[in-house]
Amino acid sequence: MNVKQKHQPAEVRMERDLIGESDASSVGSKRLVLARVAQGSHWVGDGFPVQSLFAYHEPIAKDVSPFLLFDYAAPRSFRPTADRRGVGEHPHRGFETVTIVYAGEVEHRDSAGGSGKIGVGDVQWMTAGSGVVHEEFHGTEFSRQGGLLSMAQLWVNLPAEHKMTKPRYQEILAANIPTVQITEKTRGRVIAGALQDVRGPAQTFTSLNVWDLRTADADHWTLDFAPGHTATIAVLEGEVTVADQRLGPAGLFVLGRDGSSIAIQTSGEAKVLVLSGAPIDEPIVGHGPFVMNTQGEIRQAMLDYQSGRMGHLS
Ligand code: MN
Repeated sequence: MNVKQKHQPAEVRMERDLIGESDASSVGSKRLVLARVAQGSHWVGDGFPVQSLFAYHEPIAKDVSPFLLFDYAAPRSFRPTADRRGVGEHPHRGFETVTIVYAGEVEHRDSAGGSGKIGVGDVQWMTAGSGVVHEEFHGTEFSRQGGLLSMAQLWVNLPAEHKMTKPRYQEILAANIPTVQITEKTRGRVIAGALQDVRGPAQTFTSLNVWDLRTADADHWTLDFAPGHTATIAVLEGEVTVADQRLGPAGLFVLGRDGSSIAIQTSGEAKVLVLSGAPIDEPIVGHGPFVMNTQGEIRQAMLDYQSGRMGHLS
């Protein structure tokens, strides 16, 4: 996606100040740092009406690291058209974009030669690294027929030492994403990292997890996290309760780094995306589609883009 439109700071509906000293414990329950529902939405290009669940300029950036941004497009019906809906040619540098399709089809093309069409359950993991120019559109066939589109896009930070890595494109098809049965009613697709020792297919630069969870009915279960990992739970559909706070669609629970587990409860069918990982505690300086560590690196990124050093779409 492109952040030409400024992300509206989501309204905080419930924010809980932590009381008391952290015991820096790596065992026990993680604590809730923030619970809120995203307010409002904006269009990314003319194809993706998204709610911003979080963005890296917010105070919670250190609690969601290594994730920088989370845009969610809830299911929305599009009429058949011969036009291309989406975002035309734009650059990225310094991080990865991860696109998860829940309904419909998304097509991508980039200046490093990566391209593909991803459908329901598929994931595109693009490492912008030193820089790519790409475009993101609804699938041609999907546009012609019309229908429901729903997707999520995550921006995943790269540590300073890998920000200028060679661009890479991983197309991860649903068939290659393993599923873990967590309870009788709840299962999780492991897109990246590991869940209950089942490893996901995404290759990543730092230790992180992306779990796509579905529950068929009211249920409760516990998730475990590696010591020191951040953990964020996004409610995409249904109602989910964490630490006595109940949130509906576009709800976000951000947990602290301490502790190793969290209890989750659903009141019915639900769709949840869980993000966790080893935080990258380095300065974040972002400008539009570039996220680096210093202002100088941002200026360099703009120069490199303008002079064509990030390539062009053929
Ligand atoms: Mn993009």
